[in-house]
Amino acid sequence: MDYDVIIVGARVAGSALAILLGQYGHRVLLLDKARFPSDTLSTHFFRAPALRVFERLGALEEVKSAAPPMTVMWSYIDGHVISDPVEAPEEHLRYFLCERRITLDWILFQRVAREPNVEIRQGAQVRELIQLDGRVTGVRWSEADGFNEATARVVVGADGIYSTLAKILEPSFESQFPVRRCMYYTYFQGIEPLDEVAFAEHHFAGDTLTYVFPTDADLTLVAVSLPISEFSSFKKEPLQRLRAHLDSLPLLAPRLSKAEIVAEVKGAGNIPCYQRVPYGAGWALVGDAQQAMDPWSGMGIDHATTHASLLADSLHRFLTDASAWEAAMSDYHTQARAWSEKTYRRTSTYAADLRPMTRAALQKRSLR
Ligand SMILES: Cc1cc2nc3c(=O)[nH]c(=O)nc-3n(C[C@H](O)[C@H](O)[C@H](O)COP(=O)(O)OP(=O)(O)OC[C@H]3O[C@@H](n4cnc5c(N)ncnc54)[C@H](O)[C@@H]3O)c2cc1C
Repeated sequence: MDYDVIIVGARVAGSALAILLGQYGHRVLLLDKARFPSDTLSTHFFRAPALRVFERLGALEEVKSAAPPMTVMWSYIDGHVISDPVEAPEEHLRYFLCERRITLDWILFQRVAREPNVEIRQGAQVRELIQLDGRVTGVRWSEADGFNEATARVVVGADGIYSTLAKILEPSFESQFPVRRCMYYTYFQGIEPLDEVAFAEHHFAGDTLTYVFPTDADLTLVAVSLPISEFSSFKKEPLQRLRAHLDSLPLLAPRLSKAEIVAEVKGAGNIPCYQRVPYGAGWALVGDAQQAMDPWSGMGIDHATTHASLLADSLHRFLTDASAWEAAMSDYHTQARAWSEKTYRRTSTYAADLRPMTRAALQKRSLR
């Protein structure tokens, strides 16, 4: 075999997994069809679980220094403000970050490029899997100079919701929810802040949720999650619709008078919630390839990185002969599901309508 592990996809799940396997001393080939630095369609809010993994990768300080840490979770719901300090078991991780993917993914990519056991190919699109006696043993990819192939003991798909591995291997879905919402986002400069410290602002209005998060490069991410029924009209004139929506938010609109939009308004109305069977003979899936959630809860990065960390430990046990394949991977499967279950169910359920959640939040504080 050419490598211990081939990983397809080099963003949050794939880079994290490659770094951890490299740290364990395994030989890794990391392939991505993109060339980095590279952006992707995604907002980028993450919390202690991702920070914990970045710390394990030796990348936390660099990630943390790129954007203002948000230390207060602030929500405006039906005329009420709820404001709480960010909690985490570890005192030094009591903040959220919001870092554009072109920045975050580049930090991780540069970190993985320093890992001596990891070889990287950019602009390399995996087209086919090599299989022998029912087991995946390698990949074939296309790049500028033609086709190439390599073999490994394990091939991992960290290749997102349109996963090529999943298309070829067709693992069954363990759960699936239809698309319920859409999201649009852009970047502002000059929004008047709520306070001197950075707040993670959530403005709830009916079944819409608007996010205002300070991000890297002195920008503010402004995103809105809407019911999918609004997608077809929103996508016809996203800028006008976003402006009209922001003007309707009482604690945001007055703070926009000197602010300007400095980027295109982008969006998606096709993100489902699903969990796929995450492994089979010689292969595994991680990140969005394995589990995707509606972006309203902003949890994809926390889950992709945490699952990558669990998968790295399971693969290490297999690659060092401490566990047989089935035992190691069934452990990854069980632990990933146990870690994600509550958030995955909550995200999928409330994607249909956020109002039961906001009503419950107000009732809990005797505000209704
Ligand atoms: C609109 C939107 C908003 C979101 N907002 C948030 C948020 O605020 N917070 C949050 O935590 N999550 C958010 N998410 C979810 C988040 O983007 C994902 O959970 C996260 O990107 C998953 O990371 P990943 O590494 O698994 O996959 P991806 O980031 O999708 O990376 C997959 C990589 O695989 C590569 N690839 C794919 N196919 C091949 C192939 N055949 N050969 C080679 N390379 C290939 C791609 O080029 C890509 O670089 C949002 C998603 C969307 C769509």
